[in-house]
Amino acid sequence: ADFASLGLDNALCLMLQQRGYQQPTTVQQQAIPAALAGRDLTVAASTGSGKTAAFVLPLLQQLMVASRQGVTVGSNRVRVLIVVPTRELAEQVATSVLHYREGLPLRSYAVYGGVSINPQMMALRKGMDILIATPGRLLDLYRQNAVVFDQLSALVLDEADRMLDLGFTDELDDLLCALPRKRQTLLFSATFSDRIRTMISHVARDPLSIDA
Ligand code: AMP
Repeated sequence: ADFASLGLDNALCLMLQQRGYQQPTTVQQQAIPAALAGRDLTVAASTGSGKTAAFVLPLLQQLMVASRQGVTVGSNRVRVLIVVPTRELAEQVATSVLHYREGLPLRSYAVYGGVSINPQMMALRKGMDILIATPGRLLDLYRQNAVVFDQLSALVLDEADRMLDLGFTDELDDLLCALPRKRQTLLFSATFSDRIRTMISHVARDPLSIDA
């Protein structure tokens, strides 16, 4: 299989070719067509599997399609939210998003705790299409009205098992209450405990489970 056969458009395929990606990884082959079709997904995948591109690429394509259809985006309104357990992963995912969205008229930004909140509030005011965030800081920003979720079309929970291990259950519950119910949800986790399964039943609708 190549990237085009998964349904990715020419611009993204060309970008991947230029980056030297010869063919999609297993998780990409399984996740990309289903994500492009709008399905909710739960994906068993660990670091190194190519999981980041598996969710970033289809979501970039959907954002571009929505942009062409004239979706208007006001300030503070986030369209794709990627929640991750740690600052390190937030920075890593943000770097990947930058890498894959190069040349596209989309904005992305990462917020996390341990640094001053004010620059993050200022940056969000300009409007962001894609926000990468750790749960605690994201909730702080939401409670201070620095971010608005009414235009949110997709939620990614990356390393969901680590978020539960790190004790983010309450933050995640509060965040989920703030998100539109009508959205696409993609959940990635290395392990699938009973707690993860319970979480899935709350966040996802008829998800396709992928074990790559
Ligand atoms: P991840 O599992 O998302 O952390 O990705 C691991 C590494 O694989 C990253 O450095 C990606 O740039 C790279 N990568 C992702 N997909 C592909 C692909 N289809 N071909 C070659 N490299 C890839």
